[in-house]
Amino acid sequence: MAKPGKLGPKSKPPGKRAAARVVEKSRSSDVKALAAVVAGLDGMLYRCRDNRTRTFEFASDGCLALTGYTAAQLLSGRGASYCGLIHADDRNRIAIEIAAAIRTSARFTVEYRITARDGSVKWVRERGAVKAAGTSKSHLIEGYIEDVTAQRAEIRALQDSERRFRSLFENATEGIFQTSLSGVYLNVNPALATIYGYDSPQDVIAAVADIEKQLYVDPARRAEFIRLMRENGAVANFVSEVRRRNGERIWISENARAVYDDDGTLLFYEGTVEDVTETKLNQEKLEYLANHDAVTGLPNRLLMNDRLRQMMLQAQRNHSVVAVALIDLDHFKLINDTFGHNQGDQLLQTVARRMQACLRDTDTVARLGGDEFVLLLSGEGRGEALSQVTQRVLKAIALPWRVEQRELSVSCSIGVSVFPRDGRDVQTLLKNADTAMYKAKELGRNNFQFYSPDMNAAIAERLEMQNLLHRAVEAEQFVLLYQPKIDLASGRLAGMEALLRIRDDQRGLLPPLNFIQIAEETGLIVKIGEWVLREACTFNKSLQRRGLPPLRVAINLSARQLMRNELLRSVEQALRDADLGAEYLELELTESMVMHDPEVVIAMLQQLEALGVQLSIDDFGTGYSSLNYLKRFPVRSLKIDQSFVRELGQDANAAAIVKAVISLGHSLDLQVIAEGVETADQLAFLMENRCDAIQGFLFSRPLGADAFIALLEREHARIDSYAALRELCHSQPEHGGI
Ligand code: C2E
Ligand code: MG
Ligand code: MG
Repeated sequence: MAKPGKLGPKSKPPGKRAAARVVEKSRSSDVKALAAVVAGLDGMLYRCRDNRTRTFEFASDGCLALTGYTAAQLLSGRGASYCGLIHADDRNRIAIEIAAAIRTSARFTVEYRITARDGSVKWVRERGAVKAAGTSKSHLIEGYIEDVTAQRAEIRALQDSERRFRSLFENATEGIFQTSLSGVYLNVNPALATIYGYDSPQDVIAAVADIEKQLYVDPARRAEFIRLMRENGAVANFVSEVRRRNGERIWISENARAVYDDDGTLLFYEGTVEDVTETKLNQEKLEYLANHDAVTGLPNRLLMNDRLRQMMLQAQRNHSVVAVALIDLDHFKLINDTFGHNQGDQLLQTVARRMQACLRDTDTVARLGGDEFVLLLSGEGRGEALSQVTQRVLKAIALPWRVEQRELSVSCSIGVSVFPRDGRDVQTLLKNADTAMYKAKELGRNNFQFYSPDMNAAIAERLEMQNLLHRAVEAEQFVLLYQPKIDLASGRLAGMEALLRIRDDQRGLLPPLNFIQIAEETGLIVKIGEWVLREACTFNKSLQRRGLPPLRVAINLSARQLMRNELLRSVEQALRDADLGAEYLELELTESMVMHDPEVVIAMLQQLEALGVQLSIDDFGTGYSSLNYLKRFPVRSLKIDQSFVRELGQDANAAAIVKAVISLGHSLDLQVIAEGVETADQLAFLMENRCDAIQGFLFSRPLGADAFIALLEREHARIDSYAALRELCHSQPEHGGI
């Protein structure tokens, strides 16, 4: 190789011979340099004949490191022949490949194993070229052989790992993908194809050309996916709904990341896909269950709270209002107790459907539990529209409803509070709607009331009464007063009615008006009623034991008591315990109680009658009676309600009604008794119209036990004209003696 420094432009051009010497000198230095390079090579440069044994004519010094033999040993063939070193399994192949190269005078590259002198097996790569045969028959081969054992091991390791990863990719149960930024699949595994309903990964790649439009049910999901990728470089548990090949929709969860090159350029996305349809559906089911009522399918309290909060926020923004209407079915417990829970549930479902039909899409109806529902009405204040909706609901609920071939109807009471006027949070709004609802109940049910702050005082009063009632039940602070009934034909005492009072240390004797309704609503009436029954029987027996002429004692029953199967047993037991004849007990029932479910009541009353107990209908004329049923009830008497008696002499209608009731009662063979007789005129009218008996302040207020005994004893001692009796009674204050 020429040395440019010596031929530099500054050196003087030598003469011809000198030039030849320079050339000679430079050539020999090139040869030396070349020899040094060749000798220093790691592998072995060689030249050999292509005869069977490959006779070597030249081998560089690398021969020793490669084979363990020196070049001289290899050339002389004394130490070893190169062909002898080639692994027996490779020898044939190599020969064939080299022969082919010779035929085409081409270059060749072969890899094979040799066994070095120390017995170690090495992989070598031989690159050679076949030289023209020249004069000799055999060809010359020149080339280079290097040890590639380490390289091969490396490649092998790479291949192994590639195979392992490929197997993971191919056999994973999760779908795996790589996609371009433009939404085209670059690579997918068989699991992904299965998830999306394709036969093979190739099918997916070929068929899904636009992931955003073809795959995602909501294309905005893909946009969201890309936004997250851009922002965070990854997405985790990204759930979306996608379309399978056959159009079926499934839910998938993706975990993916963006892949960048060394310069930070975004190359593609890759990640995994899992079919989470089942989990998602289960989750939805659970969520639904957590937020809805199982009986009616309506939103429950939880969801209602949520919706109300949303509606309040919206109303705040729009400067509008939200109405919260709390609805409670009237006497639902009675229906549940009488007809069983199945029918009760059916009623709730019917009511739910009817309420929904009254509302707009933006309104919500929810069930809070039991027989309590809530309507959330947006944009409604105290205005007409709200009244109309509430009226509609009242009407819809009150429509008759069939149960076991019977038609029943149930009313409801509604209390309304309005955001923001009546409260600015869910709890206050509900509490105030509840207060208004109680007011609606108090006002006779089947109506709606708007909340007003003074209602709270009434509620406090009611709560106090509830506490008082509980205490009274525990301490048996009840008293019975007895009001005589007078037979008009004879002017004698015809019986007595037991009337309940609570004896309160502070307030004195409390009349039933204050507590009967609460006792009925809380169910305490059952226990109280039992007490009344036992006390009245015991008292009546005590009168007989005193040798007084036997009288019948009447007690008032509440609907709750009548609906209980135990009533018959309780009555029997009370009579037995007091040792009182059944004919000395009378039960007063109201029309609404017996007409509520006449068939059941008739059966129950027949059993009571069979015991010998007498039955009468109280407050007759104020409720609703079917004459047809009236005929079939085993009752002995009708009690004309005191409201009609009070109006006698003032209202012609009242007189007509009283007359009609008397003649109706007589035509049904019933005794008719007038309640609340206060004046002589009323008495005269009743006598004239052949009323059978009376009860009222004119003769006596309800009396305490002792006063009543005194009255009886005096009468027994000799009073047989009712004028005298009247005088006697006038001298008794109400519940005198207590
Ligand atoms: P009721 O069964 O119709 O009883 C008659 C009511 O009229 C009694 O009221 C009685 O004191 C009152 N009264 C009697 N004569 C006159 C009169 O001449 N003028 C006026 N203005 N009132 C008169 P009380 O005792 O306040 O009872 C009210 C209602 O409470 C009863 O009406 C009855 O429905 C109910 N009640 C009373 N005791 C019981 C009971 O032990 N159990 C149940 N479930 N209800 C009861
Ligand atoms: Mg009564
Ligand atoms: Mg009455």
